[in-house]
Amino acid sequence: MDKIGGDKQIPGEAAQTSLIVKCDVCGQQLNRRHLSSHKRLSHGKNNKSPVSIGDEAKAVETILALYLQLSTKSRNNVVKRLASLS
Ligand SMILES: [Zn+2]
Repeated sequence: MDKIGGDKQIPGEAAQTSLIVKCDVCGQQLNRRHLSSHKRLSHGKNNKSPVSIGDEAKAVETILALYLQLSTKSRNNVVKRLASLS
């Protein structure tokens, strides 16, 4: 049996938790390194105004429709989280 030595990996997981940032477009929590690619992938090009007013109105309706489908427990959870955002 051969042992493979000297193959240590430096644990970087703990250090990376401090690099968690919130996407300012959708509020999703992401690793800072992935934020720019997330924005590109999820929110299109580097657009400074990610949501137009018309899209916002649609988004609000979508959110409300989804909200109404939730259980009371989940609704309370959503309300709490929304409150913590503002
Ligand atoms: Zn996002």
